[in-house]
Amino acid sequence: MSAAGAVREPLHDIAHLGHVELLTPKPAESLWYFADILGMQAVRTEGQSVYLRGYGDYATWTLKLTEAKAPGVGCIGWRATSEAALERRAAAIGLSGLGTGWTDGDFACGRTYGFRDPDGHRMEIYFDERKYAPPEHLRSTLKNLPMKYPLSGVGVRRTDHLAVLCRDVAKNRAFAGDVLGLRLREQVVYENGTREIGSWMSSNAIHHELAYVVDIKGGHGRLHHFSLWVDERDEVLRAADIFRENGIFIESGPSKHNNSQAFYLYSYEPGGNRVEIYTSGFFVFAPDFEPVVWDETSRGTGVYWGGALPDSFLNYATPDIDAEIVERKAAALVFDPR
Ligand code: FE
Repeated sequence: MSAAGAVREPLHDIAHLGHVELLTPKPAESLWYFADILGMQAVRTEGQSVYLRGYGDYATWTLKLTEAKAPGVGCIGWRATSEAALERRAAAIGLSGLGTGWTDGDFACGRTYGFRDPDGHRMEIYFDERKYAPPEHLRSTLKNLPMKYPLSGVGVRRTDHLAVLCRDVAKNRAFAGDVLGLRLREQVVYENGTREIGSWMSSNAIHHELAYVVDIKGGHGRLHHFSLWVDERDEVLRAADIFRENGIFIESGPSKHNNSQAFYLYSYEPGGNRVEIYTSGFFVFAPDFEPVVWDETSRGTGVYWGGALPDSFLNYATPDIDAEIVERKAAALVFDPR
């Protein structure tokens, strides 16, 4: 019998990562990146936000782009498995002291319970959502595809995951595991198992929907990257060509992670957020899957085929704390009362 046999009954109250809000100081340019370059469909504009979707997303929308002073992640939405599951998780989150209360929900979503994770990332959970109903010109000839494959752009199928930074990985991983019910898939733990650098977690068979990685600059509530799925490695390679042709900065890849085994490409969207085009990660079906732990030696550079990730991959996240410090210094010079 595996060690997992000794743990408590798993929670299945969260079905999947539902939607992610990204903040951008350059809304028009960011919309161009997601709609024209990645081939996502904009379905609604409301206030300072645009709602988008990948062609394979079943929900009306999965990405919300919102204008803001600085880039970063806004609200991270989790879809519950049922109304009863939503009630159970809302009660559990409320008991944890991190709940922010019920709202009527975002566009095309029903009643929603808001909360923050221990690091301060804004999250919400909901069950009721409106399925995507394509206009006639976007209707697929495949009865089981929510929208036709885009005529141009990368053609991302769906939202896959996001990686956020936090001061205390163990604390946030415990919250996501114990209160939300996400299962731990892989970890990076250094210094003889005493320093948790990162934890990768999921509510379903997808390898990970949420990763917590330590914020080496001591920030709070920051985003490392947001990731979108394509079906084939060839599509990742094609994305790299499309990025190069259109002035999109490629930070790393195409290459292969050791953690998750996935094939990846990291770019920065014009607002400054790091966006990953991702495929081929393995799925986890076993209820007693034992988390894989990597240490300094076994992890290496984190790149399966060798080579190292650039320094920016470790040092840059959104909002960019370094840029804020430079801005504050400049403002202090301008407004110095002396
Ligand atoms: Fe990723």
